[in-house]
Amino acid sequence: MCYCDESEFKILSDIKSGSIPTGALIRDCCWKRICQVRGRHFNEVSDRTWRNICADRGTYKFGH
Ligand SMILES: [Zn+2]
Repeated sequence: MCYCDESEFKILSDIKSGSIPTGALIRDCCWKRICQVRGRHFNEVSDRTWRNICADRGTYKFGH
């Protein structure tokens, strides 16, 4: 099972608590899903939280 198969509720709660697994940040299918969930709950995820997640993804995926 891939992380993008998780429920929207689970993904949203991981976004909010900053606990998305590293593997999910790296895989494109999961990242697409994470962005989709965030888009649907835009007002529930703070800019700061989201920026941190994007920064983590950059670090893991691109090494900077
Ligand atoms: Zn996936």
